[in-house]
Amino acid sequence: MLLLLLLLVMLQTILTLTLTYDDFCYDDGQCDPYAWGDMFPSCHPLLDAHHSPIDLGWQQVRDAQLDELQLSGFNSTPKGQWRLTNQGHSVVLEVGGGLSVSGGGLPGLYRTVQLHFHWGSASTNGSEHTLLLQRFPMEMHIVSIKSSHPNLTAALDDPTGLAVLAIFIDLSYMDNENFQPISSALPFITYRGQEKSIRPFPLLTLLPQANLSQYYRYHGSLTTPPCSHAVLWTIYEMPISISWAQFEPFVSGIYSTEEGAEPAALLQNNFRHIHRTYSHVYASKHARLLSSAPLFTTCPVTLPLFLILTALRSAFSTLNW
Ligand SMILES: [Zn+2]
Repeated sequence: MLLLLLLLVMLQTILTLTLTYDDFCYDDGQCDPYAWGDMFPSCHPLLDAHHSPIDLGWQQVRDAQLDELQLSGFNSTPKGQWRLTNQGHSVVLEVGGGLSVSGGGLPGLYRTVQLHFHWGSASTNGSEHTLLLQRFPMEMHIVSIKSSHPNLTAALDDPTGLAVLAIFIDLSYMDNENFQPISSALPFITYRGQEKSIRPFPLLTLLPQANLSQYYRYHGSLTTPPCSHAVLWTIYEMPISISWAQFEPFVSGIYSTEEGAEPAALLQNNFRHIHRTYSHVYASKHARLLSSAPLFTTCPVTLPLFLILTALRSAFSTLNW
């Protein structure tokens, strides 16, 4: 029995060593998010309470200290070129140097290195985080590394090594001019591994500029392997909007496979399922408190009333977004 156990442990170790962090997928039971824990132990949801993404809205605590973040360099046009790449799991824009994030309760300065996207399909929404279980069509993540770390690998060993800004993306009938540099480059990176240089632009134009003081904060993980518990999340409450014409190239024009591969596979629904969180979710000074603790935990008869109120609040939110 002991020998068998030892063999199983060795097999698991060999499997883990031979896997790389690119060996995951979203559309096959062998490698989709529910299987990540078997492939990468740190993705196993039972091993740690700080997994991402989560649903926002059930256990928020107001933190009046959480003011607007300082987004240094976000309002200028950097020199040089940025690079947009189809990495097979997402579309990633590497933004070079000169951008950083600090303040807003972050413990130090974080250098911004890249942004990327999560999306659904033509008929399903694909944001990673949800607001009162509402999923948006897309979500953008702007990733920054704590400046005291030389690289990403070092930052992943620090519980606060990364700061990720999450921006929900909704659909509107109007084109978003600020989004055009990205959407117009997508046809050049149809297949995995393809990349396209794009001219830098002020990154601030991709954020909800009128509502930067409204956000939620919690301690979580990467939403892709190795699922490191190293992320301070800032999730902006208000979405930005793009048109269907700008959205459609993501869901029907980006493949997770290389050019010429058979069968070719569209990259769709590249989001991880939501997890329970056991840590607080903090609402910034000016964010709405989406919901207080569920009333039905103490008084079951109030559940219908609570659900009605939640539905009304969701409807009200939709109208205002
Ligand atoms: Zn992401």
